[in-house]
Amino acid sequence: MNTKIWLSSPHMGGNEQKYVREAFDTNWVAPLGPNVTGFEQDIENYIGEGAFVGALSSGTAAIHLGLVLLGIQPGDEVICQSMTFSASANPIMYLGATPVFIDSEKDTWNICPAALEEAIKDRTAKGKKPKAIIAVHLYGMPFKADEIKKTAAKYGIPVLEDSAEALGSSYKGQKCGTFGDIGILSFNGNKIITTSGGGAIVTKTKETKDKAVFLATQARDNAPHYQHSEVGYNYRMSNICAGIGRGQMEVLDAHISLRREMHGFYSSIFASNPAVTLHKEPDPNYYSNYWLTSIVIDPEKSNGKTREGLRLAMERDNIESRPLWKPMHLQPVFEKYPYYGGKVSETLFENGLCLPSGSNLTNDDRHRIKRVLENYFL
Ligand SMILES: *Cc1c(COP(=O)(O)O)cnc(C)c1O
Repeated sequence: MNTKIWLSSPHMGGNEQKYVREAFDTNWVAPLGPNVTGFEQDIENYIGEGAFVGALSSGTAAIHLGLVLLGIQPGDEVICQSMTFSASANPIMYLGATPVFIDSEKDTWNICPAALEEAIKDRTAKGKKPKAIIAVHLYGMPFKADEIKKTAAKYGIPVLEDSAEALGSSYKGQKCGTFGDIGILSFNGNKIITTSGGGAIVTKTKETKDKAVFLATQARDNAPHYQHSEVGYNYRMSNICAGIGRGQMEVLDAHISLRREMHGFYSSIFASNPAVTLHKEPDPNYYSNYWLTSIVIDPEKSNGKTREGLRLAMERDNIESRPLWKPMHLQPVFEKYPYYGGKVSETLFENGLCLPSGSNLTNDDRHRIKRVLENYFL
């Protein structure tokens, strides 16, 4: 059997263990310490001036805290891009709020500005003005930030920017993670960089960051005993994990270049295949980290070739690929909630496939992948 080729697997830079060893040597084996502070600073320096970063235990925790900071209460409605990983939407449920799902547009595959505005108007007319908008940069592709922010501002609704897949991506030169009233990042094992598991919240002020860290460390009031005036969470990142993150930040841009090379690799393979469309930057304002390169197969032009057929052909060669995110409004757990839009995300899900995109794929891996792709479309 051939060795497994993964969709996206952890890729260490080399210095991670140095930072982890420092943590052991100094006995900072706790959910705070120099690596946590250092990792936060590294990300702040990277994504740009005016961003405050709090390292947390996961991206999901960051979304949960973000919604808490935005004041989401039981019974509130929260708008969420339908085509995404379930972690974008689950925290709405943790708070007893109601998700309202929005279709994607075809250029970036992210939240559709027209359907978003339609939803805001309709929910408001029904007496349920949405309290927040969760927009996602899918597979590293920035959403239509100008239009989304304009609509959000027009109706006075804050944006929670799910940048879990988009560290290093940018729109008009501005780094993803900094577009929302609150942004979030993820460092899960399969993301563009990993801390083995972790996330971060990105805020516009130091006060909001401090509040997030306060809530993430059990909301302990300033007193010698344990005193609490608010409900807290245990969501802080470990100093061990943050050490991995510091090493990963040193290689982030190099790894993005390699992911972008993988996108170029697929782009040349499919250049002369009229049935296959690559997920790609709509214009030069968009810069994607190409966390995962994805394709859609047009069933009208593909001579019976399907994304499932291709997925199985790759699986036979021990190559992992995966259908695009199944939209939330089609998920059993969420299907009863309101949905606005058409069938863009549904059609993408039916015909779309994510291909191996890791920064650590070898030439041999690429040869194998290319052979399977070319044989399948022969
Ligand atoms: C990975 C991911 C998350 C969740 O991050 P975790 O760190 O795994 O909790 C949220 N949203 C999107 C779009 C993701 O891809």
